[in-house]
Amino acid sequence: MVKAIVGANWGDEGKGKITDMMAKTSDIIVRFQGGANAGHTIVNKYGKFALHTLPSGVFYDHTTSIIGNGVALNIPLLFNEIKSIVDRGVPAPKVLVSDRAQIVMPYHVIFDEYEEERLGKASFGSTKSGISPFYSDKYAKIGIQVQELFDEEQLKLKLASICVTKNVILKHLYNKPELNPDELFTTLMEYKEMVAPYVCDVSAYLWNAIKEGKNILLEGQLGSLKDPDHGIYPMVTSSSTLAGYGAIGAGIPPYEIKQIVTVVKAYSSAVGAGAFVSEIFGEEADELRKRGGDGGEYGATTGRPRRMGWFDIVASRYGCRIQGTTDVAFTVLDVLGYLEKIPVCVGYEINGDVLTEFPTTHLLKKVKPVLKVLDGWSCDIGGITTYDGLPENCRKYIEFVEEKLGFPITMISNGPKREDIIFRESKLK
Ligand code: GDP
Repeated sequence: MVKAIVGANWGDEGKGKITDMMAKTSDIIVRFQGGANAGHTIVNKYGKFALHTLPSGVFYDHTTSIIGNGVALNIPLLFNEIKSIVDRGVPAPKVLVSDRAQIVMPYHVIFDEYEEERLGKASFGSTKSGISPFYSDKYAKIGIQVQELFDEEQLKLKLASICVTKNVILKHLYNKPELNPDELFTTLMEYKEMVAPYVCDVSAYLWNAIKEGKNILLEGQLGSLKDPDHGIYPMVTSSSTLAGYGAIGAGIPPYEIKQIVTVVKAYSSAVGAGAFVSEIFGEEADELRKRGGDGGEYGATTGRPRRMGWFDIVASRYGCRIQGTTDVAFTVLDVLGYLEKIPVCVGYEINGDVLTEFPTTHLLKKVKPVLKVLDGWSCDIGGITTYDGLPENCRKYIEFVEEKLGFPITMISNGPKREDIIFRESKLK
């Protein structure tokens, strides 16, 4: 059975923790999109880890970790990541890399930097991991798939052609040093050596695994609102963050995805630029940022302070709908225990009207949040293991959110560890 774990919001919802937890009963965990631009934080018996490329199921010795064809594969980063976890005592993971995955080239990273520099104040707040130039090249059909490393003559010709166009831009737009195709070829031959033992026809492997009844998890990166089609375009990421894309980015039939667990965070946080309706500022934001997540809301890749906001029903309901949610995992609820009153954004006001459907970007910039204030529970809910064991106001918060979302909250995360999870029966299921 195939299950997807995806985010409803702007990312950093706690997908890594939910994946790590669900990986216990899974055989295979697949990354199907994105690259090393976002991070998943996982806390388990080996310590605290920020993963950027490896799937979050990598900490068990019974799992196979797969980098699907939809991923932006940075080969040296992947191998450093494998080394860094093994160095910390995690058993050497079984990793497979799709022969159709494309490679993040050194020039993708520098183009990302140069473009953000050129845009200045109008920049996207990119993590400068090369993701946008990578996907641009993929769809312009000048990307390099892993399998191309094994046809050296063709690869040389391709690199020469790529350098012609890249060098025009480097010289005339950015005024920077030009690329040398021979150097790039040497780099790619180093990459080939690193990746060769792991290369696999992943879609065939997964097809057989499905036939054998294996449990497979598709792990998404970022969230619905960063999807290039359905998110806050253009302040989005460059690959689809939706469960539907899981079928494509892993190479499996779409009808095999039977469960879509959408991770929804009990308050909002975002990184990068773009409209963020329920955003809060000043001391109120600092307090939530400091208490948020596990050790504060700071980017796992960049260390940047995240932008903070109250829970946004309009954005989260849309985020769940566009994912095709079958289950909601409601996370980091424990963080809100310090608040006596908890504001929630229930609508978007524009010219005297209240919108309850998430609008397109040009309208989103103009709306104001409509807040409803709920009572807090003013205590620490860490360590509670049953739904009935939660304080009444905490249950009311969950039930209010569930009713407004219209999707069943079947898991509640009340701490960063695998065990910090409360399963719940939902009337909506
Ligand atoms: P992801 O990108 O969706 O995997 O999320 P991140 O890993 O970037 O951010 C989630 C952060 O919250 C991490 O620091 C997690 O360890 C932490 N976290 C996840 N679930 C919970 C939770 O229920 N409570 C608390 N306090 N922290 C959590």
